[in-house]
Amino acid sequence: MKKTLILASIAALAALVSSCGARSCGNSPYEKEIAKMLGKMTLEQKAGQMVQINIDKICDPATGVPDSAALEDVLAVQKVGSILNSLGWCPDREWMSRTVKAIQDKSMQAIGIPCIYGLDMIHGATYLKDGTFFPQEINLGATFNPSYAAAMGRITAYETRSMQVPWVFSPVMDLGRDPRWSRQWESWGEDAYLQSVMSLAETCAMQGTAPDDKGCPAQIGLENVAVSLKHFMAYGVPFSGKDRTPAWVPDFELRERYFRPFKACIEAGALTIMVNSSSINGIPTHMNRKLLTLWVKEELGWDGMIVTDWRDIDALFTRDHVAADRKEAVAKGINAGIDMIMDPYDADVADDICALAREGIIPMSRIDDAVARVLRLKFRLGLFEDPVWEHDYPLAGSEEFAAEALAAAVESEVLLKNEGGLLPLRPDTRILLTGPAADHMRPISGGWSYTWQGSDEQQYVGRFNTVYEALKARFPNTRLVPGVEYKYDGQWWEDYDAGISKAVSEARNADVVIACIGENSYCETPGNLTDLTLSANQRKMVKALAATGKKIVLVLFEGRPRVISEIEPLATAVVDAMLPSNYGADALALLLSGEENFSGRLPLTYPKHVNSLHTYDYKVCENRATIAGAYNYDAVMDVQWPFGSGLSYTSFEYSGFSVSPACFTADDEIEATVTVRNTGARTGKETVMLFSSDVVASIIPDVRRLRAFTKLDLGPGEERTVTLKLPARELAFAAEDGRWHLEEGDFRISLQGSGSSFCPSQEGSPATPSCIIRCTKTETR
Ligand code: BGC
Repeated sequence: MKKTLILASIAALAALVSSCGARSCGNSPYEKEIAKMLGKMTLEQKAGQMVQINIDKICDPATGVPDSAALEDVLAVQKVGSILNSLGWCPDREWMSRTVKAIQDKSMQAIGIPCIYGLDMIHGATYLKDGTFFPQEINLGATFNPSYAAAMGRITAYETRSMQVPWVFSPVMDLGRDPRWSRQWESWGEDAYLQSVMSLAETCAMQGTAPDDKGCPAQIGLENVAVSLKHFMAYGVPFSGKDRTPAWVPDFELRERYFRPFKACIEAGALTIMVNSSSINGIPTHMNRKLLTLWVKEELGWDGMIVTDWRDIDALFTRDHVAADRKEAVAKGINAGIDMIMDPYDADVADDICALAREGIIPMSRIDDAVARVLRLKFRLGLFEDPVWEHDYPLAGSEEFAAEALAAAVESEVLLKNEGGLLPLRPDTRILLTGPAADHMRPISGGWSYTWQGSDEQQYVGRFNTVYEALKARFPNTRLVPGVEYKYDGQWWEDYDAGISKAVSEARNADVVIACIGENSYCETPGNLTDLTLSANQRKMVKALAATGKKIVLVLFEGRPRVISEIEPLATAVVDAMLPSNYGADALALLLSGEENFSGRLPLTYPKHVNSLHTYDYKVCENRATIAGAYNYDAVMDVQWPFGSGLSYTSFEYSGFSVSPACFTADDEIEATVTVRNTGARTGKETVMLFSSDVVASIIPDVRRLRAFTKLDLGPGEERTVTLKLPARELAFAAEDGRWHLEEGDFRISLQGSGSSFCPSQEGSPATPSCIIRCTKTETR
């Protein structure tokens, strides 16, 4: 019997991402109304619409009670158009709804324009006390299953709306190409295509469009929210590796990789964008007119709204020294294309906007355009009709939603090593559970969990299982001795010996040691580090445990791959659980017991050495392993685990790989067909990844690029023939002339399955089937 199970959405989404040609939201039905309003608004009212401030300017952070004088000042006097954030503690639905109502009542009464509230809902409704937390984006990237990105989008939107909030600062679509960067876990991984597919799935689900129905709907429904794609763009590749420091990326590389996911989501109707806090090629992104206005608004004909990131107009003069004072910074930002300034503490930035407009430094046409974009967003969200809304949200925080988050967590944890089939474990296995993440929720959830740094989790997570609680339920002979603990009253990177020797003596009575290691939660710039290596205490602990001769299973809970090359050889099995969040420990227990099978695959390259950081799509010249000579080039691409790595409890065999047509031009569609058979004894899911390599190109080609993927669910002995489709035009590369080139010549099309890891010398081996096809006509567009 043959059974399939291509997750249908994957193919549809992939096709969507591949389709080129700009499509914008076009003329909204609100244009006449907007023009009428602009005609009547004072300059002060317009400037106020362009400002967003923090909730703690209105509410007392201790009590959460709105201050009526502050409400009057912010909304009636300064006429501020938007509020953001929580108060440093996680709100519940009742508080948030009450607060939004107070804001809207004041705003409507004072200026007749609704205010718009925005929240960072990063991996689910993560600023809602009973919100459903999905694994972090990096985990969802590892599922290679966009239906989970869609589920997260749909559920986040629903629960956020249930708090009377219609706007989220999500999805994060910075490419996580550098593990030194403290926000890598907020991305879907290092690849531009994966990033596009996942972000698009989440965007469409959040805003309520079908993936195959391009363009934004006239009005966003009461169970949907506006997204803010962030952080536009190349924010994830600071040269120094430190958050909010300069990136240096040529324009053609911006188009080739970083712009792609944004373009895909903008063309699907994403309503807002948040800007990269730092700079690209020496120009702070917040004053980069070429990127903000030409590339996004003009080239894509996009009528959405661009918001700054936190205090980033201020950063133009306080940090980057490209403006002498705030007023000059405001002029530079707005003239570059900023529509709304997130100036959390200074609503009087609106005064600068007014002064600059009066002096003619910001043309009135630019102000009107920015305000129109803000008003259009509010119309599209239905805020003029219903500044607050009556609607039931019976599923918010439900078991039904929790089940979807758990399923996502199961598919997101990646099995990287399993010597001698140590895993799964029998229920009667005597387990010593150890490590600083063994009995805490904070390190398994990461930042943006209830609070910004994820550091107050213990107040909110009582109902969720730690790894210890989850394992104990399935493996009664589990003993917990943490060995090393994070310093919860210290910095996120601090840990201490909490009894390594006790763990070692306990290990002697166990069959297997499971060590939950990694790093504690952090977020943004505070997460900067100076050494990617796993902490000394944790390495010491693993070595001491290994010296007992017991089999060691390492379970990594971490936001970025911490280097473990010193201890990895001591482990019999390794699971990279990353940040699977509230249901992650339950998922781990299901996987370790074999009740569920591993199917996650690394969405990034796991480094082996701190000075050797790579991505899978490196330039061919970076790997000279085949050249013998004075230097040992072998070491150059020495990584711990390549992109796409991930094992299963079953095995899959690929056969009958074929690609057609053998000769193609830009208008053709390339079809790659392969039969995948589950050759093991267990049901398993297999991600089939399709890569292309431009064999010879006029600029150095990437060694390979992910072009399509699909996921199959196969029972023992089952097989399925799948065809992955790829518009030939997608094989083009962006060049220095700002155009896309598909060049005549050979292309290698190859596959990667769970049992194979890519290595150029393996070409043509059964593990990485490949075919050469030929482009017969150059196209430049
Ligand atoms: C972060 C953004 C976030 C914003 C609002 C900034 O510091 O970079 O990702 O959306 O704060 O909280």
